Amino acid sequence: MTKIAILTSGGDSPGMNAAVRASVRTACYLGHEIYAVKNGYKGLIRGDITKLETNNVSDIIQRGGTVLKSARCEEFRTPEGRIKAANVLREHEITALITVGGDGTFRGAKILADEHDINVIGVPATIDNDLVGTDESIGYDTALNTAMEAIDKIRDTADAHERLFFVEVMGRDVGFIALETGIAVGAELILLPETLTHPDEIRKSLKEIVEIQKRSTLVVVAEGDETGGALKLCASIEEDFKEFDMKVCILGHVQRGGNPTARDRVLASRLGAHAVQALHDGHSKVMVGIINGVIQLTPIDETFGKKKEINFDLIKISKILR
Ligand code: ADP
Repeated sequence: MTKIAILTSGGDSPGMNAAVRASVRTACYLGHEIYAVKNGYKGLIRGDITKLETNNVSDIIQRGGTVLKSARCEEFRTPEGRIKAANVLREHEITALITVGGDGTFRGAKILADEHDINVIGVPATIDNDLVGTDESIGYDTALNTAMEAIDKIRDTADAHERLFFVEVMGRDVGFIALETGIAVGAELILLPETLTHPDEIRKSLKEIVEIQKRSTLVVVAEGDETGGALKLCASIEEDFKEFDMKVCILGHVQRGGNPTARDRVLASRLGAHAVQALHDGHSKVMVGIINGVIQLTPIDETFGKKKEINFDLIKISKILR
């Protein structure tokens, strides 16, 4: 029997609760004890730990956010902070930690494991979908659907008034949300951090679109695009498109919230369950992911720091279909 702790950390994403539920129930099923750590690494350092049973995770699979709460914790970045965290785990005789989060969370988990011989498993949960070692991370599908529904509404008003809309979606370093949402809403132009787009090229594309007399034009911009985001982009080309009524909409944090989609709930259930199974089988310092439908374990330090490849076929298709 192993004593396992579980926490959610960093940026929250819809489906984290479903992952926690799956880990708790799988741990109980396999005969392990499992403990909830509240508020990520901050709570770990403070010793905010309680034992969980199967019925403690009832009625959470459908909820967005995270019932374990999340936090960013500067102290955990220091060796002293991590000594405190490791001592808390030792006091509870906990030898394994499941961390549900993104690349920052995994960086911290890897260092904790190296320094204090704690078994760690990562469960990828980030709406950005930027972790290597899984085709999709928990929360990504929900964020796509949230952005798509919002932009569909924007399309209605853009169409009514012959407007040119710049819609900014999340994605500081990667353009997964922008690309797939852009295709889903039939965006006329999609701007991503992965592809260099010269402002002249953007003007040329927009002129072409205007010429074919579309009633409305939607430009989906990832927040990390080199143009500097939707506001800057709009300001920089305003002069050239005076005939158009231009508007900017930044979707922002609405993309993080909401009840997880069915796809995210199933993904989170599989990953949460397999995180415990991986510990049960003696694994540590790995992230549980799904590649081509199959569960895969990837060394946790190979999941961050590398750029996850965007699907260039989707980029090509988006240009044909606009
Ligand atoms: P995410 O997991 O969503 O990427 P953050 O980047 O904010 O979120 O990371 C979450 C937490 O992980 C940080 O607040 C910090 O406590 C811890 N962390 C991040 N990077 C490191 C690091 N290099 N060393 C130790 N801890 C880290």
